[in-house]
Amino acid sequence: MKDKKPRTRLVHGGTRRSQWNEVSEAIFLTQGFVYDSAEQAEQRFIKSGPDEYIYARYGNPTVAMFEERMALLEGAEDAFATASGMAAVNGALVSMLRAGDHLVSARALFGSCLYIVDEILPRFGVEVTLVDGADLEQWRAAVRPDTKAVFFESMSNPTLELVDIEAVSRIAHAQGALVVVDNVFSTPVFSDAVSQGADVLIYSSTKHIDGQGRTLGGIILGTQDHIRSVVEPYMKHTGGAMSPFTAWVQLKGLETLDLRVRAQAQSAQAIAEALDGHGALETVIYPGLASHRQAELAQRQLGSGGTMLAIEVAGGKEGAFRFLNALEIIIISNNLGDAKSIVTHPATTTHQRLTPDHRAALGIGDGLVRLSVGIEDTDDLIEDLLSALNEVG
Ligand SMILES: *Cc1c(COP(=O)(O)O)cnc(C)c1O
Repeated sequence: MKDKKPRTRLVHGGTRRSQWNEVSEAIFLTQGFVYDSAEQAEQRFIKSGPDEYIYARYGNPTVAMFEERMALLEGAEDAFATASGMAAVNGALVSMLRAGDHLVSARALFGSCLYIVDEILPRFGVEVTLVDGADLEQWRAAVRPDTKAVFFESMSNPTLELVDIEAVSRIAHAQGALVVVDNVFSTPVFSDAVSQGADVLIYSSTKHIDGQGRTLGGIILGTQDHIRSVVEPYMKHTGGAMSPFTAWVQLKGLETLDLRVRAQAQSAQAIAEALDGHGALETVIYPGLASHRQAELAQRQLGSGGTMLAIEVAGGKEGAFRFLNALEIIIISNNLGDAKSIVTHPATTTHQRLTPDHRAALGIGDGLVRLSVGIEDTDDLIEDLLSALNEVG
């Protein structure tokens, strides 16, 4: 499958058939595995081979299919699937860091990622330096010879700021630091993060990979050595394994990932163009618009503006709420990457925990609305958005 195009890998990659030769991937909803003999059990605990399982917290055939399909898609050597995106972020960072290590992280992070970097890691003696991820000078100044790793979201939530993966990787690698990338907003379809320098790649598969709002999941990808000797020992003993049921749902999600995400991004581009300059909006942030300050980087790194928009509605919180409540097709929720289009008001939900000053520093105003574009008809979505903006006045 390695020489096949991504869409083919997404449909066939990692498939292993049981003795029944089923077409659709089998779900092995089992915690344990039977040994032929006591000797075989003993042997497997000493060293288990690729298709030899012990316990679903360590590995499971359906989960292994999901891991292999993802690794093939990303061009990574290996992968470990997790119970959620946060289990992946926590596992990737905590498994490699210890007291006395130095981590440099972008400041613009998903709330729970910021909690790990800013609250949990320092509690265990990890020194953390936060930088503005879009400013290469700040990365250069912060990364030191004793820096163990750098961490960032390649496109930030919710203000869609990009980090130049190639440039930051050059800075980090020059000092021997590992590059850890949370790649959710960039999506596996548009991003080529491993070839751009990411050593450890993380997804919340809850988002575009499930793509239909059903299951929580995550995945950590990297070299075989890093996944097996650093990530796996931590994950298998701390209990963040993906459920076989989730792996099965998300394997089917992967089959349609490319079709869905390309359609979503195409709609997002059309929506951004239709909303840009609207009188009821202060700003339209979409990396696919020529006016986006990182438009060139978005084209070079992703070749697309992605599936997300951030728009600043005039009239602050009141204006934003009036707009949200007037939408008829687009639902108010806090997930993203779903087949259904979703709006979120970050200031009062996902980023409510932050102080107003902190929110302002991250560009999260009271009028800011995040839009995750689904796979509905583009014209219907534009009509819904425009008529709701009319209500704002
Ligand atoms: C959603 C998200 C996460 C967390 O994923 P869960 O599956 O909800 O645990 C981490 N990082 C980013 C950028 C996200 O959008």
